[in-house]
Amino acid sequence: MTPAQSLAGAAPSVYWLEDPARPPALPPLRGAERADLVVVGGGYTGLWAALRAKERDPSLDVVLLEAGRCGDQASGRNGGFASASLTHGFGNGTERWPGEMAVLDRLGAENLRAIADTVHGHAIDCGWEETGELSVASAPHQADELAGLAEALTAAGHRVSLLDGAGVRAEVESPTYLTGLWEHDGTALVEPARLAWGLRAAVLDAGVRIYEGTPATTLASRGPAMHVGTGHGEVRAGRVLLGTNAFPSLLRRVRLVTVPVYDYVLITEPLSAQQKASVGWAHRQGVGDAANMFHYYRLTRDDRILWGGYDAVYHYGSRIDPGLEQGPTHLRLAEHFFATFPQLEGLRFTHRWAGVIDTSTRFTAFFGTAYDARVAYAQGYTGLGVAATRFGADVALDLLDGRETERTRLAMVRERPLPFPPEPLRWAGVQLTRWSLGRADAHCGRRNLWLRGLDRAGLGFDS
Ligand SMILES: Cc1cc2nc3c(=O)[nH]c(=O)nc-3n(C[C@H](O)[C@H](O)[C@H](O)COP(=O)(O)OP(=O)(O)OC[C@H]3O[C@@H](n4cnc5c(N)ncnc54)[C@H](O)[C@@H]3O)c2cc1C
Repeated sequence: MTPAQSLAGAAPSVYWLEDPARPPALPPLRGAERADLVVVGGGYTGLWAALRAKERDPSLDVVLLEAGRCGDQASGRNGGFASASLTHGFGNGTERWPGEMAVLDRLGAENLRAIADTVHGHAIDCGWEETGELSVASAPHQADELAGLAEALTAAGHRVSLLDGAGVRAEVESPTYLTGLWEHDGTALVEPARLAWGLRAAVLDAGVRIYEGTPATTLASRGPAMHVGTGHGEVRAGRVLLGTNAFPSLLRRVRLVTVPVYDYVLITEPLSAQQKASVGWAHRQGVGDAANMFHYYRLTRDDRILWGGYDAVYHYGSRIDPGLEQGPTHLRLAEHFFATFPQLEGLRFTHRWAGVIDTSTRFTAFFGTAYDARVAYAQGYTGLGVAATRFGADVALDLLDGRETERTRLAMVRERPLPFPPEPLRWAGVQLTRWSLGRADAHCGRRNLWLRGLDRAGLGFDS
């Protein structure tokens, strides 16, 4: 069977969202509401913000507005790698904030631990598995990079194992692996939509009023209050927290600081016992390869393989459209899957989908306020927001409270990333960067003039 034939029957829909645990939709807002805090966006950022606000002050009156259904966008359709890293990886954080990395590392570990506590405390059935992450090298220059990373992580106190070819293939069997780096702590796997729905239930239990099918369309200051308009209603509130990720921000000034990038995913049918034995994977780690254009993959509760990544597709004019969720990347992913696991030939994919990521030029979330600090936002997580969104929500709440905390003192929080240029330069720059990253992967990691220029300017484009 060819990869195309394995893909032929895959449903063009999000596996995680097709779950009997999906809660029924909540009615939209009709009329006028008042609240102390209005949260815009019902992904992880918005849901954590609402929950954390109530945990901090149970008497606070909170309303959450979601354009569609809570968890339907990135938060319900991702790979489910909940990483302690707040900086899109240790290397990116160390390059940008070397003096702060120890604190960022500790805050990230505390953040992940607090997520686990919420999952267990609220009995959220989301397949939480603290597996760690295995990075695999399939080219000599990647093996060198993993060795360097292992050294740096060990020096920073992380528990890692650098595995040779036999060692990595004893964990997960692929003829393409040369070496591997297993970071034992700092990554949990989660069923993403179920985490979002569990947070939504916790938020409702805490007394927050959630309106789904309610896009916020306007934001204005009227006297001491902020008004959020929704077409058929409005909320008047003292404070507004924006968690709208890759979607156009209600604050124009933020719109050039991220670009929406499509990330594509496949999932297979469940592996038979024999197929599972042929790949090993007893420790069920989340796996990522060490290329610039990398794949991430993991097992599910019923031993399917989720396989995503590689291409990061940007559409001219920052276009977001459900019609862009199917594309040629799916076939490329299927081909790469069988190149990695030839022993699984004949396995079929059951679902194919994509979602938008809010890529920022520094690959990490950024934060800020507007309207005399009555509005705050957290966005820009790029491809690593499953866990970092809880931290982002806390930062935005600190900013709204006007509180100086260990979080708000961080340079990472105080500094803003450089914006992307307007079109058509934005599109041209992203395409050139993608092309250059692919070439670097094919040429022993050698970065061309363009990538070296971006590196020097501290700029980048990534999934
Ligand atoms: C395919 C894919 C794989 C990924 N894999 C991983 C992974 O394995 N690990 C990881 O850490 N990260 C991963 N990510 C990234 C991660 O999913 C995101 O960083 C995270 O979910 C962002 O959460 P959010 O709440 O900020 O955004 P979202 O989940 O996108 O939520 C934003 C919400 O705001 C709503 N909204 C937007 N505008 C308005 C408005 N005007 N009014 C009302 N509502 C509005 C949207 O409808 C949406 O529900 C992946 C992302 C994708 C797409």
